[in-house]
Amino acid sequence: MKQKKLLYAGKAKSVYHTDVKGKLIVEFRDDITAFDGGKKDVLKNKGSYNAEVSAFFFEYLGKNGVKTHFVSMIDSRHMVVRELQMIPLEVIVRNVAAGSIVRNYPFKEGTKLDPPVIVIDYKDDSRHDPMLNDDLIVALKLATPAELRKIKKAALEINRLLFDLLAAQGITLVDFKIEFGRQGKTICLGDEISMDSMRLWDKKSGESLDKDVYRFEKGDVMATYNRVAQRITSSSKKR
Ligand code: 5GP
Repeated sequence: MKQKKLLYAGKAKSVYHTDVKGKLIVEFRDDITAFDGGKKDVLKNKGSYNAEVSAFFFEYLGKNGVKTHFVSMIDSRHMVVRELQMIPLEVIVRNVAAGSIVRNYPFKEGTKLDPPVIVIDYKDDSRHDPMLNDDLIVALKLATPAELRKIKKAALEINRLLFDLLAAQGITLVDFKIEFGRQGKTICLGDEISMDSMRLWDKKSGESLDKDVYRFEKGDVMATYNRVAQRITSSSKKR
């Protein structure tokens, strides 16, 4: 497969056309950003750690019946994916109160959310990703009511699978953000699931194992990403 021209460059990934119809290459770059791009850095190997963890999760979810865009890895930071028509929604599943819901609502950080809470934001940096509700999503024609039902069902199933996998590694899945797209009439999981898009807490120490280490300068970001990537992917031996 040959990489062709750039289709899209986001804050941490670039997506390329290929010479194969319906297949794209995603490059996980070493760029890291936070606070709507207000904080930016390049951290060596970050792209590889995120690609490795994303590929691992996509394969695990795929084996467990979740439809994803993942096809294969070319090398440590280049992933072949099926082309999707992306839906500009950031679907966030929360198991524990942290981050923006603690800032915006009267939740105490660390409160268990059972059942999990799904929050859906509009993916639009220029508007700072405002929170949507079902009526707005349908009125904006971002997704049909039937698609929205499928998206929420898939998000909860993905949460259940990842929560259990991570719990077995001594990690609490606090929350995560995923994105979906259409392949024909099928709703597929796209984008990535990595330390950049999840909030992970060590069960014993409570230590952050994700991008909060970068956001709030809690320690050595790459040492954390390296350690957590090894911890997560070592669970493959058991599955
Ligand atoms: P919060 O709303 O608390 O800022 O984020 C909730 C969860 O979704 C966190 O795990 C966070 O990393 C993820 N998240 C929210 N917005 C984005 C985004 O624009 N990009 C990425 N990569 N993750 C996000």
